[in-house]
Amino acid sequence: MIIQNTHIEINLKNLEHNLNFIRSKISEKTKILCVVKAFGYGSEPIEIAKRLEDNKVDYLAVAYSNEGIELRKSGITTPILVLHPQTDDFDEIVKYQLEPNIYSFRILESFLKKSGNLKEYPFHLKFNTGLNRLGFSFSDVEDIYKKISCLQSVKIKYIFSHLGASEDFNEKDFTQNQIKLFEKISEKMSTIFQENFKKHLLNTSGVMNYSKFQYDMVRTGIGLYGYGNDDKYEKFFKPVLSLKSIISQIHEIKKGDSVGYNRGFIAAKDTRVGIIPIGHADGISRSFGNGRSSFIINGMKASIIGNVCMDMLMVDISKIQCAEGDEVIIIDSNSQNADQLAKQNSSISYEVLTSLSNRIKRIFIK
Ligand SMILES: *Cc1c(COP(=O)(O)O)cnc(C)c1O
Repeated sequence: MIIQNTHIEINLKNLEHNLNFIRSKISEKTKILCVVKAFGYGSEPIEIAKRLEDNKVDYLAVAYSNEGIELRKSGITTPILVLHPQTDDFDEIVKYQLEPNIYSFRILESFLKKSGNLKEYPFHLKFNTGLNRLGFSFSDVEDIYKKISCLQSVKIKYIFSHLGASEDFNEKDFTQNQIKLFEKISEKMSTIFQENFKKHLLNTSGVMNYSKFQYDMVRTGIGLYGYGNDDKYEKFFKPVLSLKSIISQIHEIKKGDSVGYNRGFIAAKDTRVGIIPIGHADGISRSFGNGRSSFIINGMKASIIGNVCMDMLMVDISKIQCAEGDEVIIIDSNSQNADQLAKQNSSISYEVLTSLSNRIKRIFIK
């Protein structure tokens, strides 16, 4: 039976498969942190987090505090790292027992203001090693020491950094320099603090390509959802998310007729047009339109014609045997995965997955 609406299927068995595959790439002693930011990479964070918790992962991570609060409110008790806290967040971070990433002196100040009465409140200290996104520098270590060494209220639980090109073999030197700098920073930290800190560095592609530097924990996101950023790893992962729709209506139009807003498509010959109930409000950007991307109907490619509308789009089905109500596959593991759809539009799996709006119903396959 075909579900008569646009929907997303989340296969939690595939999530477990991917988790086990990533675990097989690291030592049993290395902890695993699972990234569920951005609505669980578009999948839906709560069910994903619960299944990960059932599988005894060591940590979860989100980008913003409100994402962590959602998880706590739904009963998740696993430690949660907040990757990008802001100065106003620390009341709630403490209230909901979230562990902040402290990445600058400004953020450290606001954290310390709110943590005065606490005892050894755990946080992760981030260093910038070349991505030039968040993080302290090598030269900040002395000042960090001055600000926190005498405090009992907070405690560095991990130091960490983030690789900028772990999937790209042309950038091996860059990555190795990041790793070297991270090691130099760790040594300086232990010399100055007289303490050996636990560390984490690798994301999914880091685990695949630089597993020697797994340290005490790895952080995996995209791999959990079934993508390895490289054709050679793709076969070991199973996409968790499928996006399916249906044909709402079919028109037979004549040569010279137009389709959609601003007459984005003008038929060069008589054309059969299928209307699909998914649009840019659902995460299929306008840039997918006008022939750039296609969906799969009864095993055949139907390319998008004209401009993508907010709530629907039109595809060319002239050569496809199909009827109103038939299934349309936009993303799945067999005919077209998120990476393949992304490539049609110069994008990446991360962007395609995280763009899928909450309006689309998620169905969980347990
Ligand atoms: C998003 C994110 C990750 C996850 O990366 P993947 O490539 O999805 O595995 C890891 N670490 C940090 C700091 C992140 O922001």
